[in-house]
Amino acid sequence: MAAESRASAERAMRAEVIGCQRCLALAEGRTQVVFGSGSVDAQLMFVGEAPGATEDREGLPFIGASGKLLDQLLATIAMSRDDVYITNALKCRPPDNRDPRKDEIANCSEYLRRQVDLVEPTVVVTLGNFATKLLRGDETGITEVHGQPEPLMLGGLGVWLFPVFHPAAALYRRPNLELLREDFAKLPELIKAGRPGLPAESPCAAPAEVEVADADVDERPQLDLF
Ligand code: URA
Repeated sequence: MAAESRASAERAMRAEVIGCQRCLALAEGRTQVVFGSGSVDAQLMFVGEAPGATEDREGLPFIGASGKLLDQLLATIAMSRDDVYITNALKCRPPDNRDPRKDEIANCSEYLRRQVDLVEPTVVVTLGNFATKLLRGDETGITEVHGQPEPLMLGGLGVWLFPVFHPAAALYRRPNLELLREDFAKLPELIKAGRPGLPAESPCAAPAEVEVADADVDERPQLDLF
């Protein structure tokens, strides 16, 4: 899609989502929807968990302490937030910064899917445990999977999923900062590699066809996500 049409499609989507009432409790408690920010032509897309208090107030993702660290990390790879697209799995701030609930994620997942479809990133970086578990579709923690690119089908698009520690985890625990820096250093090469070729028979190429026992469905929210 041409840059101009992408930008106007994003504006239209933003206008549609701004008044979202799908999660009444979140809609009542929020100052505003935090839809996303950055370049709609970005090759690199970041997905966090949900807006915090500062983001809720200002209407932009990752602009508090975690966001400042994200800016610094981007600078280490000669990028700025204008070069990337940043959003969250949930577009409204949960009260008291509690974890997003399954029904809220289910309500909001369509917006993230449409953002991925629109931006068509090469690499989707999940920031922290929540977004990583959600998009990878399993419970493996960030400590085990961070810094390891994984080809993944998101909607109709094959991307590199690249989990990293949440910046807040690095602010909280210094050793995580070093790991986060090391993982960011891998991004330029990954972007350069281009989108992965996903064979049709690849299990992650067709998530909707993965067999999941009924009892497992609750544990695999991503199967409904994209
Ligand atoms: N943490 C997140 O996961 N997202 C934000 O936008 C801010 C903090």
